[in-house]
Amino acid sequence: MTDSPLLPVKDVKNRILAAFYLLPKETIALMEGNGRVLAEDVAAGFDLPPFDNSGMDGFALHPADRPESLASSVELAVVADIPAGIHPAVTLKPGQAARIMTGAPLPEGADCVVPVEDTDFPYRETKVLPESVRVNKFPPEKSNIRPRGQDAAAGEVLLQAGQVLLPASAALLASLGHAKVSVRRQPKIAILSTGDELIPPGTALTPGKIYESNSTLLGGLTERAGAVPQLLGIASDSPAAIQDKLEQAITAKSDLILTSAGVSVGAFDFVRQVIEDNGKLELWRVNMRPGKPLAFGHYKSTPVIGLPGNPVSAFAGFMVFVAPVIRKMLGLKENRMLQKARLEHPIHSDGRESYLRAEVRRDILGLTAHLNTHQGSANLLSIVRSNALLIVPSGVKSLPTGAEVEVWLLSEPE
Ligand code: AMP
Ligand code: MG
Repeated sequence: MTDSPLLPVKDVKNRILAAFYLLPKETIALMEGNGRVLAEDVAAGFDLPPFDNSGMDGFALHPADRPESLASSVELAVVADIPAGIHPAVTLKPGQAARIMTGAPLPEGADCVVPVEDTDFPYRETKVLPESVRVNKFPPEKSNIRPRGQDAAAGEVLLQAGQVLLPASAALLASLGHAKVSVRRQPKIAILSTGDELIPPGTALTPGKIYESNSTLLGGLTERAGAVPQLLGIASDSPAAIQDKLEQAITAKSDLILTSAGVSVGAFDFVRQVIEDNGKLELWRVNMRPGKPLAFGHYKSTPVIGLPGNPVSAFAGFMVFVAPVIRKMLGLKENRMLQKARLEHPIHSDGRESYLRAEVRRDILGLTAHLNTHQGSANLLSIVRSNALLIVPSGVKSLPTGAEVEVWLLSEPE
């Protein structure tokens, strides 16, 4: 299998995606729903706002008192005080006004609210309800009223299944009285790092060892993609140690196991063997740079994506194959931000589909792209200092300055 052909990225992606399905729904507290994916459409159960209410602190007025010229002042008897939160018992008659606060229900008979600033009521000095009020600027009909249903009408579909719940959409549900929300269960992703050289950050570094960073990388990416990482830690380069960790993923009911390293052709690369011995290896080796030694299979019946060990390769493998899998399980569409950019300098590739770490900037003609870091697949800084992946199609070995290239934006260019 060492000489197995390099499989096209697109085929690998489709074959991996085909092994995953939409996860079931679950109902959770609305307060826990931030960032979760709605599993059902939500329609307004009633009009929003539910009743005509005042948009100002002022006085509710009767249309019969509206003067010919709105500039003429009118003296009215104040017959009621309507704070927010009560149901007004009063019906205004001609010659009458009611003091009303923002958000309070409009009394029967009123057709507008005059802001307190447009009356003679000394609101800065006193809060005591006056017996009468002089209206200096009588507003037109409907002024300063927020009519029932202005924001949404009962029955209107306001949120759709597959939409990510954000603070404002969650607040909209709250304003409709929902304390719970139906969302997709989050995928549980077990993350295992393999390698005798790895030690966890926070412990002393000894000769020949390196700090393990893929758990941090893949855990963070998993979380940002909307899934739950289950960190399995480090397995040494032995089939038994790897298998022991994979069993933990089975116990934890993971939807997907992500391993990193140990999947290449090294003498101590045992991940593929463990998958082959305990399940099925579906595919191995992708025509991609970085990220060639990527494997996909099942450990027992749990899907495993064996990512390469080099951090940049693991990153590329996650972005290209794992993120879409998570989105599929959540019922989200793909969201790659692909743009065209002009190359600022020539680049060379080896003919594999390449995902180069690039800095994309905006100038008056559009986007430009350049590689500003060492492209070695072990160099995490190349990701940190970039805002895009520059995609060189398979078969292309060089591109000149000025060539139009496809860039996958990871964050907005400046
Ligand atoms: P391998 O696929 O096992 O040959 O690993 C490829 C390279 O990635 C080696 O230089 C490893 O030391 C490095 N590597 C593997 N796993 C990790 C990890 N979890 N964190 C940082 N580097 C790693
Ligand atoms: Mg290794």
